[in-house]
Amino acid sequence: MDGSATSLGNAGTGTLVSLPATLIRGDGIGPEVTEATLRVLDAVGASFDWDEQVGGVTALESEGNPLPDGTVESIRRTRLALKGPLTTPVGTGFRSVNVALRREFALFANVRPVKSMVPGLRYDDVDIVLVRENTEGLYVGFEITIPVGDDRKAVAQSTAIVTRLGCERAVRFAFEYAIAHGRQRVTICHKANILKAVSGLFLDVGREVAEEYKGRIDVDDVIVDACAMKLVLDPSQFDVIVTTNMFGDILSDLMAGLIGGLGMAPGANIGEDVALFEAVHGSAPDIAGQGIANPTALILAACMMLDHVDEQGKATRIRTALEETIREGAQTTRDLGGNASTFEFADAVSRRLS
Ligand code: ATP
Repeated sequence: MDGSATSLGNAGTGTLVSLPATLIRGDGIGPEVTEATLRVLDAVGASFDWDEQVGGVTALESEGNPLPDGTVESIRRTRLALKGPLTTPVGTGFRSVNVALRREFALFANVRPVKSMVPGLRYDDVDIVLVRENTEGLYVGFEITIPVGDDRKAVAQSTAIVTRLGCERAVRFAFEYAIAHGRQRVTICHKANILKAVSGLFLDVGREVAEEYKGRIDVDDVIVDACAMKLVLDPSQFDVIVTTNMFGDILSDLMAGLIGGLGMAPGANIGEDVALFEAVHGSAPDIAGQGIANPTALILAACMMLDHVDEQGKATRIRTALEETIREGAQTTRDLGGNASTFEFADAVSRRLS
């Protein structure tokens, strides 16, 4: 990597000699999908020098803290992390360990690509990248409840915080990403017609930033509710979407649904100094420990990590092996209509790499 972590896919020196990186296996299905991902990375010869750390419930049990100092220090040192999903234990002072990590390292852009790989779905041409502002909006958690009479929670208030800086760096990242990845258009997704202050600021700043890219990247904008409908009607009309925190959270799950579900959707959290790669899905406690989770989302997150360190060749080989395995259909997990276990699927992908 060079000094900046912000240029996903364009950041490396071309060499990858045991690059230090933090590994957090996570909670629920995290250890299973992480082990599967490591097998695939091994098969392609990606040599990260993993510093294993813990987080979430696993860390609470072993270290008494869902986000131990050692984990934070490791990420600060390596500036590169692959993370399984973390469950936030109740009563530990954390609203969300995942959000705490994004805040700690100012991971301002959350990149969530979706691309068709699963045959037989309604669409086979989905190829969209959503860039979500990752640190602001309603998710800052400024919330209060106001008691009235005997009702302790009669009124609830939540405050969204949106800053010019936050909007600007997320939108600029989306345009830079579009250029680096040969994309044509960025769509600014907002609700400025109702949320005139917070969403209006995002749209205004978005249009200002877009001016700088005139002639290189096209821009348009869409209201979030219309965006949801258009995504379902015809996802091929979108290229890169940039939006605020909560809208991005919701739309990225919708987009995962277009390509086969949460098991297929990776994400990258990008800041000035640190990049952290993960699946969009959570710890899925309902299927944890059964060996049936689909590891594709975390494997694709690892591909984004390889792109980030300028190992696009290896990332492409993995993506091709994944797609071939999924399209062939003999070794897919249950969520994709198959009967294979997490490791059988990962091993089928690995065999195509060796
Ligand atoms: P969390 O609170 O940690 O986000 P959750 O159960 O609310 O957990 P997810 O973990 O994102 O939400 O999962 C929602 C559902 O999607 C799960 O119950 C599971 O059935 C399915 N799912 C998620 N990830 C996968 C996966 N990798 N493979 C198969 N199914 C998955």
